[in-house]
This record gives sequence, structure tokens and C-alpha cells, in this order.
Amino acid sequence: EAKRAGRNLVRVFDESMDESVRFRRQIETGLGQAMANGELSLVYQPIFARGGLEVVAFEALLRWCSPEHGMISPGMFIPVAEESGLIHDLGDWVVEEALEAAKRWPGQFVSVNFSPRQFRRQNFVAQLVAQVQRAGVSPNQLQIEITETALAENAERAADTLYRLRQMGFRVAIDDFGTGYSSLYNIRTFALDTLKIDSSFVDGMGRERESAAIVHSIIHLGRALGLEVVAEGVENETQLQALRLAGCSQVQGYYLSPPLVADDAVRLAEGGSVLEPQTPCAPEAQV
Ligand code: C2E
Ligand code: MG
Ligand code: MG
Ligand code: MG
Repeated sequence: EAKRAGRNLVRVFDESMDESVRFRRQIETGLGQAMANGELSLVYQPIFARGGLEVVAFEALLRWCSPEHGMISPGMFIPVAEESGLIHDLGDWVVEEALEAAKRWPGQFVSVNFSPRQFRRQNFVAQLVAQVQRAGVSPNQLQIEITETALAENAERAADTLYRLRQMGFRVAIDDFGTGYSSLYNIRTFALDTLKIDSSFVDGMGRERESAAIVHSIIHLGRALGLEVVAEGVENETQLQALRLAGCSQVQGYYLSPPLVADDAVRLAEGGSVLEPQTPCAPEAQV
């Protein structure tokens, strides 16, 4: 009996492995076609200063509207793109698209996510310089978001890349700060503009002393180093007030605004309000 149960378990396990391998392969082949078919789009989540009164930037977030599977989240396909190397073409498209959008909100900048492999690419900085030049956009209209993990892999080289990025006029942010592998020792040597507090700490703030303490520490660290600090994942008024009291300079999250299609982002940037945000995928494409 136990033996049979064991065998079943093994079979179930194998099948789920097959399933995930198949899914990965589907994503990998689908993603290349999706780029060609125009199934990818960017949405832009506003980043606010002055407790939510002023929009200072928009973070570009990728969306894949698959006619077959509906909306596929970047958490699902970015790791596959990263592993297959497709991330480079994908990332180039993202930057070009984001810069075109940023031209429509000259008073704000656009913040773009880069995965570790993109950051490690030869000519990473030169490529970005060429892209802003081609787009006719000033480098300070573009912020580069990198996670600590990408920076920790080769801290000396990372420090050099960050230095060159800032020298060229780009803004630099560490994303998901506090969840990765960078050390304060390294932070010391990094040229930065912004720390983004990971949403898990913001989420825990009202419940656990530990999360609240970490949020406060990051805000103090950022201020002492002369950096902007953005709290991510702000979902309610209580969090917003607590962050304001703690001296957090910028906030981002569903409570303030979801990610918006470019037209809605432009409307917001121009001082209008977006009462019914458009969704990036047509409703019939949603699962
Ligand atoms: P991230 O850069 O940390 O982005 C923040 C994520 O939190 C986004 O998820 C955003 O939609 C979500 N979010 C915003 N407000 C709230 C909130 O109030 N509560 C909660 N719980 N979540 C909120 P999304 O769009 O699914 O992106 C996930 C991750 O995928 C991003 O995390 C980023 O690491 C990666 N990603 C997205 N777009 C790109 C891209 O163009 N290139 C690369 N390399 N990575 C990307
Ligand atoms: Mg980000
Ligand atoms: Mg983040
Ligand atoms: Mg993240």
C-alpha cells in the first residue's frame, strides 16, 4: 500500500515537472512571437511625492496579453526570458517604448526595470546612451531600476557600471531594497539616486514591529545618504500616513494608482484625473 502511494507520488511529481517544463517551453516560443505580434505592452504606475499630491515619475511595467492565455504577468515570463537570453531583445523594446511614452510627460521621468542579465550585458551603458539619443530624450528622463541581487554578483563591476550610468546622466534606483543580497558595505560604494522599499515591508508595517523598524531604518539610511526613498505597494491610508510621518519622500501603490496605459498616464501627468483606468489587455483577452 505504502509502496503504491509512493509510486503515485512519484508519478504526480513527474507529471507536474512535465507540466512546468512544457509551460516554460510554451512561454519561451510564445514570447518571441508575442513581440512580433504586438502582444506586449507597457503600463505605467505613477510615483508620487508630497504624500500623494505630486506625480514625479512613472514606473514602466510589462504586460503580455496573450490571445491564448489572457494576461500573463511579468513574474511568469521575465525569468524565462532571462534564462533563454530573449531578455535582451525584450529589454531593448521596453526601453524604446518607455522613452516614447516619456516624451509625452516631459515633467516626469520614466523608471524601467532591468534584470541581472541585462545589467551584466557588455555595453549596457553604451546601449542605453544610444537609445536615449535615438529617441531624442535626455538621460535624466530615464531611471534604471536594478535589484540588489544583480548588484551583488560582482560588486566592483556593478559599482563601476552605476558610476558610469550616473555620469552619463541616468538616474539609478535599487529596487526591492532589503530583500536581496547586497551589503551595506557595497551600498557605500554605489552611485545611486533612489532606494525602493520592497512592498513586503510596507505590507507588514501595521502588523509587525520588525517590518515597521525596517521601513524606518531604510528611510533614515536613504535620507542620511541623500537619496530619494520610494515605498512600494502602498495599499491603504494607514500605510500612507505612517510613511509620511516616518519621512518617506515618495510613495507608489494601488491606493494611489494602479499601473496605467500610456494615454491615462499622460492625462494624470497633465493634472487630470483618471477615474476609470483602462486595462492594458482587451477584456476578451482576460482569463
Ligand atoms: P517591481 O519592479 O518590484 O514592480 C512592482 C510590482 O508591484 C508590479 O508588479 C506592480 O504592478 C505591483 N504593485 C504595484 N502597486 C502595488 C500594490 O499596491 N500592492 C501590491 N501587492 N503590488 C503592487 P508586476 O507589474 O507584476 O511586475 C512584477 C515584477 O516584474 C516587477 O517587480 C519587476 O521586477 C518585473 N518587471 C516588470 N516589468 C519589467 C520589465 O520591463 N523588465 C524587467 N526586466 N522586469 C520587469
Ligand atoms: Mg521596479
Ligand atoms: Mg519592487
Ligand atoms: Mg520585484
